[in-house]
Amino acid sequence: MTDVALIGAGIMSATLGALLRRLQPDASITVVERLDAAAGESSDPWNNAGTGHAGLCELFYTPERPDGSIDITKAVRVNEQFQVTRQFWAHALENGLIGHPRNFLHPVPHVSFVHGVGAVDYLRRRHRALADNPLFAGTDFITDFGEFAARLPAMAAGRDPAVPVGLDWASHGTDVDFGALTQQLIGYCVRHGAAVHFGHEVRSLDRESDGRWRLGLVDLRTGETRRILAKFVFIGAGGATLGLLQRAGIPEVRGIGGFPIGGVFLRCGAAELTSAHRAKVYGLPVPGAPSTTAPHLDARRVKGASWLLFGPFAAWSPKFLKHGRATDLPRSIRFDNLASTLGAGLRERELVGYLLSQLRRIHGTRVQALREFLPDAEDAAWHEVRAGQRVQVIRGGQLDFGTTIVHTADGSMAGLLGASPGASTAVPAMLEVLERCFAGRFGTWLPTLTQMVPSWGVRLSDEPELFKQVWEWGSQQLQLD
Ligand SMILES: Cc1cc2nc3c(=O)[nH]c(=O)nc-3n(C[C@H](O)[C@H](O)[C@H](O)COP(=O)(O)OP(=O)(O)OC[C@H]3O[C@@H](n4cnc5c(N)ncnc54)[C@H](O)[C@@H]3O)c2cc1C
Repeated sequence: MTDVALIGAGIMSATLGALLRRLQPDASITVVERLDAAAGESSDPWNNAGTGHAGLCELFYTPERPDGSIDITKAVRVNEQFQVTRQFWAHALENGLIGHPRNFLHPVPHVSFVHGVGAVDYLRRRHRALADNPLFAGTDFITDFGEFAARLPAMAAGRDPAVPVGLDWASHGTDVDFGALTQQLIGYCVRHGAAVHFGHEVRSLDRESDGRWRLGLVDLRTGETRRILAKFVFIGAGGATLGLLQRAGIPEVRGIGGFPIGGVFLRCGAAELTSAHRAKVYGLPVPGAPSTTAPHLDARRVKGASWLLFGPFAAWSPKFLKHGRATDLPRSIRFDNLASTLGAGLRERELVGYLLSQLRRIHGTRVQALREFLPDAEDAAWHEVRAGQRVQVIRGGQLDFGTTIVHTADGSMAGLLGASPGASTAVPAMLEVLERCFAGRFGTWLPTLTQMVPSWGVRLSDEPELFKQVWEWGSQQLQLD
């Protein structure tokens, strides 16, 4: 019997476990993970791009409206969410929940990059639209080719200086090893009494007559089965969350389907390139492509080594996890989501066409796409790595590229679907789970919560002084000065 069962040891469960440990120290917590270690799926550093998404550079968060103005709503929302995450990380370091910040976090400029007259004009208008918001202050808009070459020499080499280029340069971005962070947070939970069952897969979720959930587990090494009774269950199983919510039979998941999109990155560890390119540079998404596949060239730090990563290229597999089963997609289609899933398939013909075009890509054509960023890129210097699976939510016949929290009316079960903005917004997402599922207790947690996230409940865009305070405190704790 446990108070809280967390299914999956990815960044979401790890964050929720650590938050609960602080807010309700006497609650018993049990984590169940089918793999033999934490962060083996999307939260692994090579299964995602490691961008601390704050809306600084991602052009798909700032679409152009038909009248030519720029809609900054989403960029501001993502930045506000990232500020919540950043404060919790600062609190976690200050209070010894996790170790040295350089184990998982590195400062790196976040840069938007475009070329061509029209795109440079769009970027200028985007820069102006964001400039008044304190969360986006201090970015540099650059069109001078000499300055471009000084900041991004590898991207300037071999490029025609006659083609206009534009950069929006935010020097205060971050590269995050979400895998290392997940392991540290799980470690904190274990040091404070949480039980973790690695190599155990949750196969069933049934309701007892007293309202508790009975989890049926299988030890994947021995085949032995066991049961856990839990008062509250969080399904943080990444792509597998949908199937587990369906198995629990809760009405809130009816009508929801899932569509898996995989990814492939090009990776390079050559020192002459990693030392010449020290930024995360995001370009414009290809028309018809999902926003999550907008190309970017990222400087990464993983386990003490420097890398460059480019992509993601969309890939396809019916699996809902990288280590999943080919039956995942067919098994997720039920009577209640069939019409919606078929409707999305018909509506998203442009996306299907894009995915098919991506599947035809071979190494050479992927490097060709990279040359938009690095004109001198050589095939042999770059190797392909398979990224994690994202399962996009289908609802009402529409594909949703965001994140959805599904929870029962009585708050005894919640699950997180979707993977964008993803790990960067794990803290606000998990606080939302707590607010919805522990409505009766949430108010009593506020004093502790405001120690962890001092700006909780405040829109920092409207409070520049408070933003300055929490930013400086966070930068000091996270050693990002
Ligand atoms: C290509 C790509 C690029 C991305 N880039 C970024 C980025 O730059 N920045 C960012 O913030 N986010 C990014 N994301 C999103 C981010 O990686 C995810 O949102 C995040 O890692 C999801 O964490 P999670 O804990 O929900 O799931 P996961 O990390 O996938 O963890 C789920 C865990 O549940 C376990 N599990 C599944 N089923 C069961 C079961 N039945 N029983 C027990 N255990 C089970 C799995 O083994 C796994 O360990 C990216 C994702 C992808 C795919």
